[in-house]
Amino acid sequence: MPDRPLTTAFPLYDLHSHTNASDGQLTPAELVKRAVMMRVDVLAITDHDCVTGIAAAQQTIDQGQLPLHLIKGSEISVLWENHEIHIVGIGIDIDNPALTALLAEQGQRRVDRAQRIADRLEKAHIPGALEGVLALAGGGVVTRGHFAHFLIQQGKADNIKQVFKHYLSRGKIGYAPPQWCTINEAVDAIHHAGGRAILAHPGRYGLSAKWLKRLLTCFTDCGGEAIEVAQSQQAPGERLQLAAYAQEYQLAASQGSDFHRPCPWIELGRKLWLPKGAEAIWERYPDVLR
Ligand code: AMP
Ligand code: MN
Ligand code: MN
Ligand code: MN
Repeated sequence: MPDRPLTTAFPLYDLHSHTNASDGQLTPAELVKRAVMMRVDVLAITDHDCVTGIAAAQQTIDQGQLPLHLIKGSEISVLWENHEIHIVGIGIDIDNPALTALLAEQGQRRVDRAQRIADRLEKAHIPGALEGVLALAGGGVVTRGHFAHFLIQQGKADNIKQVFKHYLSRGKIGYAPPQWCTINEAVDAIHHAGGRAILAHPGRYGLSAKWLKRLLTCFTDCGGEAIEVAQSQQAPGERLQLAAYAQEYQLAASQGSDFHRPCPWIELGRKLWLPKGAEAIWERYPDVLR
């Protein structure tokens, strides 16, 4: 069910979502139709380290004359102080050479890491993981999300949370260290492509307040423009805390469901609103709507 009544005065923005171009379940066409069903007005598709779902999504919107504005985006994985951090770029030119080059490098790093994860699983008597995840990815970008589904298929765990906890998080048998780019490289590529950079889900990195502030300083120094303040599923109080950080670091505020697949807790457009006083990224940087 949509998260709000049929008629509201303001548009609903969802600036973080995935298709099967990376680890989302829905095709780009299915995703945009679902966004309309959920009364989202403005949707950013932000697949992991790729932009390959966007053309098909726009084509579906144009052909069906769907009441949805699509923002072109991507979620780029970076390494910062040995933490895996996600930077969402929106309003990007998906054909920009600097961005295309960075995404190609990231894609190669993903293939290399998938091979190393599969080797580790094989040593732990779980064979066939590389073939399994490549089949699940269907030609799209491979993520640990695909390994999670492969391991569940193999009966190794009941759900995604458990499979990450026991197999795929740092230090576990299915974890291989990645070689992502730096924050600076990701933000630069996004800027070269004319976009704006958002620090994704800041509450999900397991950082203490002290380290999160260090991250915000670094992100701001690199020219990042916004942080994701509102998500579909969030700890109580986190939204207000993140809005306060946005103000303190003079960053704009973004909101996104991080939708991957239909499930009871996370939905396109669900619970997406910004606390009073937060300046929305689409207000401070209307060019993201281009
Ligand atoms: P990767 O970028 O390949 O490391 O994969 C990251 C993706 O795995 C995320 O975008 C989520 O889709 C998924 N993921 C990571 N950690 C978890 C978790 N603890 N529970 C569920 N999904 C997760
Ligand atoms: Mn994902
Ligand atoms: Mn992410
Ligand atoms: Mn995401």
